[in-house]
Amino acid sequence: MKKEKAVVVFSGGQDSTTCLFWAKQKFQEVEAVTFDYGQRHRLEIACAKNIAEELGVKQHILDMQLLNQLAPNALTREDMTVKAGADGELPNTFVPGRNLLFLSFAGVLASQIGARHIVTGVCETDFSGYPDCRDIFVKSLNVTLNLSMDQQFVIHTPLMWRNKAETWALADELGAFDFVREKTLTCYNGIIADGCGECPACKLRKRGLEQYLAIRNGQPE
Ligand code: ZN
Repeated sequence: MKKEKAVVVFSGGQDSTTCLFWAKQKFQEVEAVTFDYGQRHRLEIACAKNIAEELGVKQHILDMQLLNQLAPNALTREDMTVKAGADGELPNTFVPGRNLLFLSFAGVLASQIGARHIVTGVCETDFSGYPDCRDIFVKSLNVTLNLSMDQQFVIHTPLMWRNKAETWALADELGAFDFVREKTLTCYNGIIADGCGECPACKLRKRGLEQYLAIRNGQPE
């Protein structure tokens, strides 16, 4: 049997860390790709680096500053506050083309290192309206990547239909609940683990965690 190799798009957050554990269980060989696009919190890259090291996963850090140059946004600029989108508008954390570019570069890397599988933690369920987190977009890009490189890539999205509570449940099934809770960074204010508790990312993470813990402890929600 051919050795199956996967590339995980990895930011050091809850979702992509859960995906990294998922991939490690599913594939013989796993490498991670982390994109440096001038995140406000340099800690995000450091956090991703520590996790990859601890899990013994080879990590590729790719410079994507170009994205920040093209589309400055609240995730990269100190002088912009993170705002949720009002009335069907996209929040100002949206970066046009981000997942298109990230997944395309992940495809180039996969082709270079002989990996057929690409894993990403994008999710349609809790999504903030980001069009490039939708299932239809990922499927469309999968076809495009295969055509562009004459490859047979399979893009996996293990979190696509899970809400945050179900993502915590998956981490738990993978034996990674405490690891994900204590070592990942989701907070827009750059605070590891449970975060600042105030930003939209923390609120989403916390609500999911509380829902999952209620289920885990056998209590009604
Ligand atoms: Zn926060």
